[in-house]
Amino acid sequence: MQFHPIISLVLALSPLIGAPACSQPQGAVQDSDAPKVKTLAKVAPKYDGARAWKDMQHIVGLGPRPAGSPALEQLRLFLESELRKAKLDPKRETFESTVPTTTFTPEGKLTFTNLYADLISDVDPKAPIVMVATHMDTKFLQNFVGANDGGSSTAAVLELARALSASSPRPVTYRFIFFDGEEAVRFTWLDPDNTYGSRHHAHEFSKKADFERLKAVILLDLVGDKDLRLSPDQNSTPWLRKLFDKAIVKAGYGKHLGAQSQKLSDDHLPFKALSIPVLDLIDFEYGPSFNNYWHTAEDTIDKCSEESLNAIGQMTLAGLKALNARLVPGPR
Ligand SMILES: [Zn+2]
Repeated sequence: MQFHPIISLVLALSPLIGAPACSQPQGAVQDSDAPKVKTLAKVAPKYDGARAWKDMQHIVGLGPRPAGSPALEQLRLFLESELRKAKLDPKRETFESTVPTTTFTPEGKLTFTNLYADLISDVDPKAPIVMVATHMDTKFLQNFVGANDGGSSTAAVLELARALSASSPRPVTYRFIFFDGEEAVRFTWLDPDNTYGSRHHAHEFSKKADFERLKAVILLDLVGDKDLRLSPDQNSTPWLRKLFDKAIVKAGYGKHLGAQSQKLSDDHLPFKALSIPVLDLIDFEYGPSFNNYWHTAEDTIDKCSEESLNAIGQMTLAGLKALNARLVPGPR
């Protein structure tokens, strides 16, 4: 992630509903093909902040997790196992890319692997798709465990996947995705040395027919800071940011909305370039003096809190609920 200074249920209602009762001829056989009113037990998504925090401790305990490292593979195996327990079917997306030659990448190439799982709508299999995303890799730095940067959002998206998988009804289809290679291989962020996984996924997905159903990308990054205050990102889609902000305030989490407006480069941009509405939920003020823990060995779990990790989950669910109502209007 990088910043630039600001330059500036009721389904398929039967067509018979509303028609006079006498419209069906007496003695007619019931049409077995008639649309049925589908009733789904209502189960609200329940995000467990304590469980997310435990997962974050485990993730950070794996140590530095840069692209191509055994520790990142350990993380993928953990995520796959947990997603399967949540009745999801995780998929891998592996590709190779040339990268700058550094002490970490002497061969000038790396193999990246994104991980994602689709949660199909239980209302309509062809429903709009909403992507809930994070990067799971950590930056190539000595002794950098990425508690907030990589760890927090990975734990939050995993818990969101569990919470939403157990919920009903779900008017949209979710794609939970853990990108590899968000971080630049070099110390500085210089295109195209960044967002390898999201650029690859956006490109591949855009070739599929389902891509036209992708209606929003909600990205989480740096969401565990003890002093959690989301940065209003100028690169996010304004209506989507407003919709989430309003829902977050309504849910009682308004204190976590910050005022420091920034223009942020992150995994949402490849989708924005394809005209998909995007939102980066990110707190880019990490540390007592502006962002001084970011991309340093100071990014450790003691700078983060369970309360923040719980709050970001509740805030995301509140925003997603409002987004669902906009994408699929109708009774719930
Ligand atoms: Zn980073």
